[in-house]
Amino acid sequence: MSEQPVLIIGAGISGLAIAYQLQKQQVPYLLLEASSRAGGVMTSFHEAGFEMDAGANTIAASPEILQLFEELGLSDSIMQASAASKNRFLVRNGQLHAVSPHPVKILSSSYLSGAGKWRLFTERFRKPAFTNAEETVTAFISRRFNKEIADYVFDPVLSGIYAGNPDKLSVGEVLPMLPKWEKTYGSVTKGLMKEKGVMSGRKIISFRGGNQALTDRLAALLQTPAKINCEVTAIRQTAGGYKVEAMHEGTKVSFDAGAVVITTPAYQAAAMIRSLDDRLAAGLNSIHYPRMGVLHMGIDTRAMPNPIEGFGFLAPHAENLHFLGVICNSAIFPEKAPAGKSLLTIFTGGARQEHFFDQLSDQELQDKIELEITSLLNLTAPPTLMRFRKWNKAIPQFNAGYGEIRAAAAQFEKKYPGIHIKGNYLQGVAIPALLQDAVTLAATLKKK
Ligand SMILES: Cc1cc2nc3c(=O)[nH]c(=O)nc-3n(C[C@H](O)[C@H](O)[C@H](O)COP(=O)(O)OP(=O)(O)OC[C@H]3O[C@@H](n4cnc5c(N)ncnc54)[C@H](O)[C@@H]3O)c2cc1C
Repeated sequence: MSEQPVLIIGAGISGLAIAYQLQKQQVPYLLLEASSRAGGVMTSFHEAGFEMDAGANTIAASPEILQLFEELGLSDSIMQASAASKNRFLVRNGQLHAVSPHPVKILSSSYLSGAGKWRLFTERFRKPAFTNAEETVTAFISRRFNKEIADYVFDPVLSGIYAGNPDKLSVGEVLPMLPKWEKTYGSVTKGLMKEKGVMSGRKIISFRGGNQALTDRLAALLQTPAKINCEVTAIRQTAGGYKVEAMHEGTKVSFDAGAVVITTPAYQAAAMIRSLDDRLAAGLNSIHYPRMGVLHMGIDTRAMPNPIEGFGFLAPHAENLHFLGVICNSAIFPEKAPAGKSLLTIFTGGARQEHFFDQLSDQELQDKIELEITSLLNLTAPPTLMRFRKWNKAIPQFNAGYGEIRAAAAQFEKKYPGIHIKGNYLQGVAIPALLQDAVTLAATLKKK
């Protein structure tokens, strides 16, 4: 390994986890962060006994990830989701319907029409189409099932994960197992039955005090702390490696590096690699990060005649509501709200609803959401707490055509050995994927 440090750009969970894993491997690193704090999207705050997360609310942790949390000394801060969190709901015709991801259970529920159930039941007899073209989720699901299942099952699920629009999202990117099952078993439902254990072994958790506890702990464990207020502007190739140029508190600075790991959002990575690869920079810039709003609603539990015993509920786009989905935080983790109160976290905007931010003020949008939630849950009193956080660029959209961006990034890494493009737009948005990738990358860099 070269004596020059690995320079990591961006101290969100990706950059912090990479720095921590490099430290474990005794590989020297330097972590640069443009803003005044490490943690990136992970932002927790507390008020009136409520614990709120404006970014990630839950983490689906595998046994390896739980082991990592133990290694970080976080075991005592972990809250495991209640048994009730297995219950999930979807909105249809202004009502909440309990749903199960299991096709047989969906068949017996009143959520889908008779025609929808028939298409679901008969999917396994439909001929597979062995296409290599990058299909959208809606095109794939309409072909295998029908439009109702695309609109009422897959649309809300993808809103819940990506705040995305299935008419644009690439099925191979966001639901890669579906085309794989079609190819392997000739049917999605057959694949689901055969591989139903894919998610088993994962536990839904959150950290006491908020999920920022995770980034705070990683940052605290670094022997070389993140250099904050240091915004990288360009990366240049030199005879021995790379020179990274940055602005640190208004002063131009530069750093020599043996390897560079970029973990910033794609549009910020684009700016720093433009002079090396204009085409990749254009591709990274084209990734859509829609605006999103996160509304925390504290409610007196007595004002909820039918409290939801479940993870939460999702709203299909076809329902024309002003939100995408709701996490019932205190039903999953009772400590998130003070005694006698319930906490909901409501997501709005994203690829389907971004226009709300142009049409309505933040207050008007919150008022509309409050009315809709009041009606759905039959609330008998107004919320006791409303807190709204807007993300101007929230979650990257893995839209059809993404394959070209991946290919261009891979070519770039070959052409410029030692530069690694990381972050959630290539590794996947879920925190466990980013933590796991940090382990792999550190092992690779250690070998060099
Ligand atoms: C509203 C919301 C809810 C979510 N919910 C969940 C969830 O429940 N579960 C889950 O697993 N995931 C969830 N996610 C996704 C997950 O939180 C993100 O994928 C993850 O936190 C991204 O981390 P990151 O380090 O890759 O990027 P970021 O957190 O964006 O960090 C990048 C860092 O780079 C810095 N930076 C930018 N430009 C420069 C520059 N030029 N020089 C130096 N530094 C720079 C930024 O300031 C930032 O600190 C959610 C995301 C959002 C937005």
